[in-house]
Amino acid sequence: MNKSVYLDNNATTYMKKEVLDAMLPYYGEYFGNPSSKFYEVGRIAEKAVYGFRKTVADAIGAKINEIYFTGSGCEADNWAIKGIADAYRNKGNHIITSSIEHHAILGACEFLEKHGYDVTYLPVNEYGIVNPDDVEKAITDKTILISVMTANNEIGSIQPIKAISEIAKKHKIVFHTDAVQAIGHMPVNVNDLGVDLLSMSGHKFHGPKGVGVLYIKNGIRISNLIHGGGQERGKRAATENVAGMAGFAKAIEIAAADLDKNMAEMERKRDKLIKGILEKIPYARLNGPVGEDRLCNNVNFSFKYIEGESILMMLDMKGVAASSGSACASGSLDPSHVLLAIGLPHEIAHGSLRLSVGDDTTDEDIDYVLEVLPPIVEKLRMMSPLYEEVLKAQK
Ligand SMILES: *Cc1c(COP(=O)(O)O)cnc(C)c1O
Repeated sequence: MNKSVYLDNNATTYMKKEVLDAMLPYYGEYFGNPSSKFYEVGRIAEKAVYGFRKTVADAIGAKINEIYFTGSGCEADNWAIKGIADAYRNKGNHIITSSIEHHAILGACEFLEKHGYDVTYLPVNEYGIVNPDDVEKAITDKTILISVMTANNEIGSIQPIKAISEIAKKHKIVFHTDAVQAIGHMPVNVNDLGVDLLSMSGHKFHGPKGVGVLYIKNGIRISNLIHGGGQERGKRAATENVAGMAGFAKAIEIAAADLDKNMAEMERKRDKLIKGILEKIPYARLNGPVGEDRLCNNVNFSFKYIEGESILMMLDMKGVAASSGSACASGSLDPSHVLLAIGLPHEIAHGSLRLSVGDDTTDEDIDYVLEVLPPIVEKLRMMSPLYEEVLKAQK
């Protein structure tokens, strides 16, 4: 059998069997529309949705009526940015975010810039971390929203959310965080973090794709992004994706229950991978923080003198699934905005590789990658004119 090692868990995760089992009844026997309360199958669905909402609320320390299901993490992010911008327009038109956000946040902010809003994109330090002092300095009397992600999806940098939320509170500014990468990888509690809004996405923690949640603290005003029926307390129209909600709830329940054990295991494998790469591959640069400021499952390296895409292709031939530092999702070969934001020059950002471990990653998987990756990098470098110069200069 061909070897297959999946190390792209920051992109998506496999769906757990228990999650699928929790979903299936709502595609079958319990197919009812939760809004159809005049008959049994509708009421069953309505009751089920209540339970799923409660499970999600409990997992992050929220109240049931603060949980709003969406169609994705991207939708939750777009809703937070555009919905707050619109609802607080009479107060001001200035938004503060960071330069390393997911494109869902950056794209929503760029959209708002075309509609009369001003956006400050905060810089990060060399490890990809926002300085809370910079947040405070950027605040003006027109600032209505601050949005900084809990943890970055490319280099795993965990942001000082608590410190930023205290600043936001002091200045009475609404604070949103994109916690899509955080769930299942670090403790997430809305009260500890002190946030007003928080985005999540099911498929990043072994739930289904196409289901997200936006936590909206009671008392925060927000305009609708999706208009139509009165679902989600009148704030987000669309007949409920009951099976998706069932899957999301089951996945977050498991993620919360297994968090400590999973974090410790993933961290150990992450560090084994980092140590092995640094030992075996010269001119390798670890991108992102070391230690506890780093997501437990993220590894990101730049290998000088070669292209990330070439590494991916050769890893794929060895059965290893990984990701590069280019924004290939957007169909461009531009280097990642995150790697540029931490100060990497274009040519080094281009040679980047992200390996993200999961709860199913084994020690054999790590050993296998440490066996196949060094010769791949070596082979690609042998074809690189730049590397030839380096070798020549050494002689
Ligand atoms: C994956 C991801 C999203 C988007 O979530 P989808 O459900 O895929 O739309 C948003 N933010 C971050 C940080 C992500 O990693």
